[in-house]
Amino acid sequence: HKRSPYIGRFAPSPTGPLHDGSLVAAMASYLDAKTHDGKWLVRIEDVDELRTVPGAIDAILQALTALEMKSDGEIVLQSHRTTLYEAAFDQLGRQAYPCGCTRREIVDSQIGITPDGAAVYPGTCRSGLSVGKATRSYRLRVPDMTAPETTIRFTDRLLGPIEQCLASDSGDFVLKRVDGFWTYPLAVVVDDADQGVTHVVRGADLLASTGRQIYLQRLLKLATPSYLHVPVITNADGEKLSKQNGAQALDLSHPLQTLCKAAWFLGLEIGKVGTIAAFWPLAITAWDKQFKERSCL
Ligand code: GLU
Repeated sequence: HKRSPYIGRFAPSPTGPLHDGSLVAAMASYLDAKTHDGKWLVRIEDVDELRTVPGAIDAILQALTALEMKSDGEIVLQSHRTTLYEAAFDQLGRQAYPCGCTRREIVDSQIGITPDGAAVYPGTCRSGLSVGKATRSYRLRVPDMTAPETTIRFTDRLLGPIEQCLASDSGDFVLKRVDGFWTYPLAVVVDDADQGVTHVVRGADLLASTGRQIYLQRLLKLATPSYLHVPVITNADGEKLSKQNGAQALDLSHPLQTLCKAAWFLGLEIGKVGTIAAFWPLAITAWDKQFKERSCL
């Protein structure tokens, strides 16, 4: 019988070159695809053009080439795919509504803090913009605290059963900004579905957004992929390694060491290896073993 196809992806935001933290997510998604004889796609998440750093896309693609990680399909850019996002947004109809609140107003309402540290939206503009306010964004209406649909349950392949509450974890979230930019949750859901992604493997910093993505998939009648969130590298203060807190670009003058460091972080036992070409088959075997031992499924 035919095995179900596996399509995975690595979806970096071009806010800077790859660093040790982003390589961990890239490597995990790559190895999981390879152990499943699957496809591994690279998608550039440049949907927020204000955050895109010039040269970052080329730097990311060059790093992947230097590390011998090749996309099994055309590399797509979210900035070229806005008609798809527009269509999904239209499909949501009145479930999306205009909001005129500033970030400050939302923070000041002190309704709660999301697991990723933002302020929960208090629902101010749900029944219409207040007089004198201009639209700043379009938000998706999520089910109220009392509605059972506000609870999203899924099983992370590594972390096990996860339960998230849309009403208290985020409240109504932004799909589109009035400056024309689509947001990550809408774009990622549309793209994963459009590219036929069956398995999402990414950093645990995105775990908190998964419930919102699953909710959007349900509204848009899209399949939900399986999820696996790998640990993220943190600095001494426990913050995720990112360009904002000074993560250095990958050391590509020693690509093999760079790969071994990421593999070490993922707990993969590679042993001694002399070339990148020899690294990958060993890493694939190690992932297969480590994953099978640690998977909760
Ligand atoms: N673009 C996101 C990031 O770089 C990752 C999106 C995802 O893997 O779902 O953090």
